[in-house]
This record gives sequence, C-alpha cells and structure tokens, in this order.
Amino acid sequence: MNVAVTTQPKRKPSFGDWLKTLTFYELLVGMKATLTHLLNYKPITLQYPHEKRLLPDNYRGMLALLRYDDGTEKCVGCDLCEAACPSRVIRVVSGEVPGEPTKRYSKEYYMDMTRCLFCGLCVDACPVDALGMTREFEWAVYDKRQLHLNKQQLLAIGDRSFPVREKRLELQHPNVAFFNVTFKHLPQKEN
Ligand code: SF4
Ligand code: SF4
Repeated sequence: MNVAVTTQPKRKPSFGDWLKTLTFYELLVGMKATLTHLLNYKPITLQYPHEKRLLPDNYRGMLALLRYDDGTEKCVGCDLCEAACPSRVIRVVSGEVPGEPTKRYSKEYYMDMTRCLFCGLCVDACPVDALGMTREFEWAVYDKRQLHLNKQQLLAIGDRSFPVREKRLELQHPNVAFFNVTFKHLPQKEN
C-alpha cells in the first residue's frame, strides 16, 4: 500500500534570525537569567546543626511506645502492628498479665529501625494508640546495631516526646470497664 508522506517546506531564515545568531541573542537571554539570580541571591542552605529546618506538623519521625497518665504501658501485645508492617521491623512477644487472665501485654517488643520506612501503618493499625511517631530525626549512628530498639528504649522515646498522656482507656469509656471483669477496681456501671 502506498502511503503519501507530506513534508513541511523548509522556512528560509529571515534577517531577524541572522541578527539573533550574529549577536548571540539566546546566550544573552540565558546570561540575563543567571545574572538576575546572582544579584538577588538569598542563601537557602541551612548551617545544620546550628540552624534547623522547621518541621511540618505531620512530620513522621522516630517511633515510640506510649503510656497512660498513670504510667502503665498502653500496648496490649496484640501483634497488629507487627502484622501491618510491610518491612518486618517489629517483633512483639506477648503474654498474659499475671493474675488477670483476660489481659495481655507485650513482654518484649523490638523494632529494627534500620528497616523502617516511616510509613505509619503500624501506628494506624494499633487499636489502643500505643504507638506514636515523634518529631525526632537525629538518629545517625556509627553502629547500626544501635538502631535495634527494645521496649524500654521505645518507651523512653515516648516519655520524652509525648509528655501529655491520655487517661486509661477504661476511665475514658466506663463501659469497657464494666464488660471487662478483671477491672474490679475501676468504676462499675450504675443500675
Ligand atoms: S512506620 Fe511503617 S515500616 Fe516503620 S515500623 Fe511502622 S509499619 Fe513498619
Ligand atoms: S503497639 Fe499496638 S498494635 Fe502493636 S502490639 Fe501493642 S497494642 Fe498491639
């Protein structure tokens, strides 16, 4: 099959085109942009660590384990954060609270922060808001084993980053206390 190919006729250079070529017009336009930036120079480099950038409100920094206002750990060892984490950062070893068979807690809790993507999925997955993302980012270390954090280290990060703590869940929602027979010392439902 024959296909007709049409080509645009080549434009003859005008006098203006010749003039632009002879006077290096494009080069001068580029130099003008360079000179404009040079003369209106404002430094954008911050002299870290003496100067620090303002972090956005939704900044996602180092992870931490949180406590209630009476100092008890929020984590109930449910493993949901471990299941939600796409990078297998978290390892939870849970157990029963001694003397309270319906309650669980994390006996051990580990995070390998060398693998963390700071995606926040573990925080979203936690049913009791026991995990939080702090605004800490200065975690450069020489030995990456220092980024394998245990429960006490994660709780310490939470203590310094979240000084304002919530009341215990049972005190926020008295019905939780009523249905959980192990919370005998907490407010009971009125008849
Ligand atoms: S922030 Fe993301 S990658 Fe890091 S521990 Fe949580 S779920 Fe895993
Ligand atoms: S941090 Fe939250 S999701 Fe993870 S084990 Fe503890 S209670 Fe469950």
